[in-house]
Amino acid sequence: MSRFTLPRDLYFGKGSLEELKNLTGKRAVMVLGGGSMKRFGFVDRAIAYLKEAGIETRLFEGVEPDPSVETVMKGAEMMREFQPDWIVSIGGGSPIDAAKAMWVFYEYPKTTFKKLLTPFSFPTLRTKAKFCAIPSTSGTATEVTAFSVITDYQKGVKYPLADFNITPDVAIVDPELAETMPPKLTANTGMDALTHAVEAYVSTVAQPFTDPLAMEAIKIINKTLKASYDGDMMARESMHYAQCMAGMAFSNALLGITHSMAHKTGAAFGTGHIPHGLANAMYLPYVIQYNAVNKRAKERYAEIAKAIGLKGKSASALVNALCDAIRDMNKYFNIPSSLKEYGIDEAEFLSKIDDIAKLAVGDACTGSNPRPITPAKMKALFMHVYYGTPVKA
Ligand code: FE
Repeated sequence: MSRFTLPRDLYFGKGSLEELKNLTGKRAVMVLGGGSMKRFGFVDRAIAYLKEAGIETRLFEGVEPDPSVETVMKGAEMMREFQPDWIVSIGGGSPIDAAKAMWVFYEYPKTTFKKLLTPFSFPTLRTKAKFCAIPSTSGTATEVTAFSVITDYQKGVKYPLADFNITPDVAIVDPELAETMPPKLTANTGMDALTHAVEAYVSTVAQPFTDPLAMEAIKIINKTLKASYDGDMMARESMHYAQCMAGMAFSNALLGITHSMAHKTGAAFGTGHIPHGLANAMYLPYVIQYNAVNKRAKERYAEIAKAIGLKGKSASALVNALCDAIRDMNKYFNIPSSLKEYGIDEAEFLSKIDDIAKLAVGDACTGSNPRPITPAKMKALFMHVYYGTPVKA
């Protein structure tokens, strides 16, 4: 038995933020990040729409990038005090992820992160509130996914939360919000979305329902991400929908080791923090070559290559063409092709890579990767990623 779960409603199009005025409820807590949504006027507009719906809003502001356990607890406490029947979160992945976790602790104050770490074991939500997510970046797709990542800075660990209970009820995908993204963020989040779609398409649990979403997302991203990066707002709009489709695919088909590697290297080096999307962009061509040893994966990568118009006489040639196309996109966005080029110190890399390789193998995304991997093989793959040497399929 498999399951395919999405938000009950998805509103999209320029100005769809206005849909907030059709929510039914009494009180909303609005969870926000660093302040850009407020500066651009979206928060005031959202509050006014909710007021039109007869909903009183209280703000929870300042969710940090990589939201902390403390922030989640503070938000949940505020919710217990104010008793909202809607949680509305506007912003990038971080405030929406934090709001999802606050929601769980609002409805179940006695639960713990330890309990929530078992995937798909959450208590039933929506006994107190429903959830509306409004993304301002085009990448994480947290507005349609069953995932959230919270960081415990005291213990130095990340808690990946996964359960369809935290798939939002309503997603508002309004491209006007994504127009505010600077170019670098546009590239990094866009390459994150491409990685979501590619990994979902070759995942061991890819489904007939996720395949078309993943493939269409790949086609649109291939056509529009460069133009979106260059400031074309029509392309930016297409990207905002494509990343959401990629999210629908990977929320149900899961991911692979590109994400395992990105998760465990993002904050691992003193000589450079590696943004999530940029890490995925760098690692993806290496992972494709590693995975293409698996026959089914190779065929699926070849299907992707054909779908985006690449040419090749054999499946292997098509896989190579796909990797070249991804490298070409990276070059366009000034994304380096190796960790060395990115500036991670060699001695630091070599001293930490054994531990990182082990952690990456243990990451939640490794299980659905099309080719199994051991810590030794993961280390070897990371060596290619560091020095920029080709992985031999
Ligand atoms: Fe991602």
